[in-house]
Amino acid sequence: MVDSPRYTPKLANQLEKLGGARYMFLTHIDDVADHRKWAERLKCERIIHSGDVEDITADVEWKLTGNGPWNIGTDFELIHTPGHTEVICLLYKPLKALFTGDHVAKSEESDDLNLFLMYSKQSVDVQLDSIRKLLDFNFEWFLPGHGYRIRYEDVYAKNSAIEALLADYTN
Ligand SMILES: [Zn+2]
Repeated sequence: MVDSPRYTPKLANQLEKLGGARYMFLTHIDDVADHRKWAERLKCERIIHSGDVEDITADVEWKLTGNGPWNIGTDFELIHTPGHTEVICLLYKPLKALFTGDHVAKSEESDDLNLFLMYSKQSVDVQLDSIRKLLDFNFEWFLPGHGYRIRYEDVYAKNSAIEALLADYTN
C-alpha cells in the first residue's frame, strides 16, 4: 500500500480479499491520516524516512536514514527526494512506475511536470537536485499523491520531460 487512505472496514475487507498488504509505504509525513489503523488491521510494516518522523509517525516500523536508494526485494526501490519534505519515491520496477507522493506531478494545464514549489518545505535547489536524481532511474509512469498521473512513451521521453523542467528553473 502506498500512503494511507482513510480507513474504512469496507475498504479493509476488499484489500484483504485481494491478499492484504505486507508493507505500507509512506512517501512523506502528509496524508498519513489512518496509518496506525491500517497497520493494525493488515499487519503490514510501515516505512517512512526518519526525517519525516514526528509524533504522529513515531511508531512506524521502518525509519530509513541517509540518502538511499534502498531496495525491498528485487521489485521495489526507494529513492530519497527531499524538497517538499523528506519525501521518498517508490519505484515499482515491473511496471516502471514511480509513486512520487507530493514530490512531482503533472500540471493541470499541460503535460509538463510541476514541482509544486509553493508547498515545498526545503530549498528550491534541494528539490531540483532531487528531480535530477530521477534521471538515473528506469521508469515511465509518474503516479503522484494528488493531481494527474503521467505515462511517458519510454524512459527517454521521461528524461526529456525532467530536463525541460530543470531548464525552466535554471534559466
Ligand atoms: Zn505533502
